Amino acid sequence: MKIAADVDTCQGLGMCEAMAPDFFEVGEDGYVDVLDAAPAEEHRKHVMAAVAACPVSALRLAG
Ligand code: SF4
Repeated sequence: MKIAADVDTCQGLGMCEAMAPDFFEVGEDGYVDVLDAAPAEEHRKHVMAAVAACPVSALRLAG
């Protein structure tokens, strides 16, 4: 499982960070930083919920 973030689309709204702060953080530049781009399988549900919460669909989960 791999997380991809499109910073051109990210609006820095922070929903991902609120849902899964171990994996996402809004940086000082106002765009999302992915803290762990290859989460262990046990985190799938949690990460999927955060990806789905992004209002501008800037996050993708592959694998
Ligand atoms: S929820 Fe989407 S728009 Fe908001 S910080 Fe995360 S990736 Fe960016």
